[in-house]
Amino acid sequence: MLFEAWFFDVYPVPGGMATWWIGEDGARLRLSDPWRPALYVDAAAPGLPLVRRRLEADPRIAEIRLEHRREFWNPAPAPVLRLEVVEPQALGSLARELGGALGPSRLFNADLPLGQRYCYERALYPLARCRIEARGNALRSVESLDSPWTLAPRLPPLRVLELAPADGVPYRLPGTPLDLIARAAGVEERLVAARPLQLLERLRHLLESGDPDLLLTDWGDDLLLPGLVALAGTHGVELPLDREPPHLNPLPLPLPLPPGERRRGEGRRVGQGEGRAAVVAKSGRQAVGGAGRSYLSYGRVLYRGPAYPLRGRWHVDRRASFFYGETGLEGLLETARLARVPVQRMARTTPGTAITSMQLDLAVREGVLVPWKKREPEAFKSGLALLTADKGGLVYRPSPGVHAGVGELDFASMYPAIMVHHNVSPETVNCPCCGGVLVPEDGYRICWQHDGLMRRVLGPLVELRRRLKQAMQTAVGAEREALDRRQTALKWIGVVSFGYLGYHNARFGKIEAHEAITAFGREALLRAKELAEARGFRMLHGLTDCLWLQRRGAGEADYAALAREIGAATGIPVSVEGVYRWIVFCPARILPKTTVPNRFFGVFEDGRTKARGIEFRRDDTPPLVRAM
Ligand SMILES: [Zn+2]
Repeated sequence: MLFEAWFFDVYPVPGGMATWWIGEDGARLRLSDPWRPALYVDAAAPGLPLVRRRLEADPRIAEIRLEHRREFWNPAPAPVLRLEVVEPQALGSLARELGGALGPSRLFNADLPLGQRYCYERALYPLARCRIEARGNALRSVESLDSPWTLAPRLPPLRVLELAPADGVPYRLPGTPLDLIARAAGVEERLVAARPLQLLERLRHLLESGDPDLLLTDWGDDLLLPGLVALAGTHGVELPLDREPPHLNPLPLPLPLPPGERRRGEGRRVGQGEGRAAVVAKSGRQAVGGAGRSYLSYGRVLYRGPAYPLRGRWHVDRRASFFYGETGLEGLLETARLARVPVQRMARTTPGTAITSMQLDLAVREGVLVPWKKREPEAFKSGLALLTADKGGLVYRPSPGVHAGVGELDFASMYPAIMVHHNVSPETVNCPCCGGVLVPEDGYRICWQHDGLMRRVLGPLVELRRRLKQAMQTAVGAEREALDRRQTALKWIGVVSFGYLGYHNARFGKIEAHEAITAFGREALLRAKELAEARGFRMLHGLTDCLWLQRRGAGEADYAALAREIGAATGIPVSVEGVYRWIVFCPARILPKTTVPNRFFGVFEDGRTKARGIEFRRDDTPPLVRAM
């Protein structure tokens, strides 16, 4: 049978992957795919001859083959053993054993999340429109018919069931009932906790009759879903939260742990509610975004609940999703599609996961091997090199006081633009192939022979964002809002891509790449200053990617001409933020004759105000000040 459908969900099951599809006719269809991923072992690993005999008898391995492939940090191909596993779920345990025997640095493609990897290898992404061939309940072939980079993708209508605490407050004293509000297809109803059996039956009816694609909750991960599952267990009601039929795929039980050892993420919860965490642990569910954990943020210990993903249905907890919170469903879907990450995982992770996944996708599809975890060390740096390299953006100290007739020029998305323009990427900095092009200040070199992953990932991203913003100019209402959410999601990925390079735990992090970018940024700002001064402007202030300039009688058009000139000279687009009627650079509180670089406020010629680093709200502006 050959037909067209949208790719909806994927997760590992015994014997392969379960995939879910939304047909043109609205049917929701489960097809199994006997997909067999492979991991790779360095054929030169010293312990390999000993292990090899055992591998040949290992029932988890379907096929062993010698291949020549290149790995991510090295452009020269080397011999590797390709181990194809009989089913996806066997890959994790095999990788751990081999990692223990040979050392993790000898393994490749060993720790990629299965759902993502399936998308890379099948060239799929969430809600991709596909032509598929099925025989019975098995997927025979699949071909994606459009691209995630489409400006106006055709997406299927999704059925949504919203579930939230009735009074909006999730936490209460133990034993106090928690009424719920359920909303589906515009109909809202209250589910009363004092009558638990009725609540469960009603919820079961909503799930069965409406068969929602998306369960959208507040505090669903942490509280609602574990609580409901426990309640259903107590009352013997079967709650079809998953679409996966239970008889097809019994949930795997967690393996027993050695005495005294605790499963990762099963740490003690901060505050109350340990009972709930125990319920989740017992269900044996494979966590998508990791189990619950406590973490330190700005000196406070915070707790994030365990993820509660569903099978064949999406569960998004609005209170636990960065992308949903910042960019709504449109931004979440945009990111999941571009990054080829299943929606429930994307909802529970950060822009860093998205940018990493985009890099993994390119690597995997081109047959480049991905090392296990991170092992690229910081190359040796002398003390002097550290001194120049660790500077961030260039910062001037403006003279305090009021300045009239000041233009502000901004480099647009400076760091992503630098990565694209100068080909800065973890594997292009100090490449082993061509000697490279010199980076200002740092003395690093950037490959000129190969386009880096960053350029290839961020280039189309920057371009799509430009097109989305362009489309926004003619769109109105909900359509404009949707475009705005999508472009905001892309902006986040761009912003984070820079920080991630400097983060030593990131898979593709490399501090030298991070430093090269800031060096190019400082050079661009200096170059802009020179060009401005050559045209008779005086630079009052400069801050990373912004300049404040002054020239008697200069208007918007003069600043726009200068912006174009700087953009052409540096390769980074520059825009005119505006011309200020007046601007104040604020003095430092301790030394009044100096200024704080990021503290200012001013009024543009068109009446807009802008302030940074001071308490200032536009709503409170007295009419007198606004008229100034
Ligand atoms: Zn090179």
